[in-house]
Amino acid sequence: MTLYRLIYVSQAIAGLEYPDLVDIAEKSEHNNKNVGITGMLTFGDSMFLQVLEGSRRLISQTYNRILMDKRHNNAELIDFSEIEHRDFGLWSMKVVQLGTQAEICDIILKYSSSETFSPISMTGKQSLSFLRELTALYQRGGNFN
Ligand code: FAD
Repeated sequence: MTLYRLIYVSQAIAGLEYPDLVDIAEKSEHNNKNVGITGMLTFGDSMFLQVLEGSRRLISQTYNRILMDKRHNNAELIDFSEIEHRDFGLWSMKVVQLGTQAEICDIILKYSSSETFSPISMTGKQSLSFLRELTALYQRGGNFN
């Protein structure tokens, strides 16, 4: 099967709260597991950055459904590529709320002009590297949820 990767950024609606993130995480894990989609969803400073990996058809269906969700808006596609292998295959969807932990701030700063999480300013390559570094941090036992 040819594998694809999709990365997009979007803005959370005002008033989005932790239970919303929990709901999104639960739905995503459940739905994605059923269709073989893997990935990571990061949330910080009212912005979402998400990567989805899987078949082109199933990624497209999932992305179209995500775009309809009223809990975010102003989605912008950052990357859609054919890939050799998955980078986020550990998770049907790992949801990471970016906090103020030093290690996470360092990774944000590495790919941004400041420590404010602004994925809208990242290139496709930067956003992928950012997400890969978060994964590596997690695998080293880093301090995030
Ligand atoms: P239901 O949960 O029954 O939802 C039916 C409809 O109601 C959908 O249109 C849904 O968008 C909307 N809805 C549900 N709950 C709320 C709420 N609290 N407020 C407003 N509208 C609501 N889903 C995935 O399957 N995979 C993903 O990787 C994924 N990533 C997401 C990333 C982001 C940033 C967001 C905001 C949502 C994401 N979702 C993801 C959720 C997705 O948008 C749908 O809500 C979900 O897939 C629908 O699940 P369901 O089929 O069980 O329908």
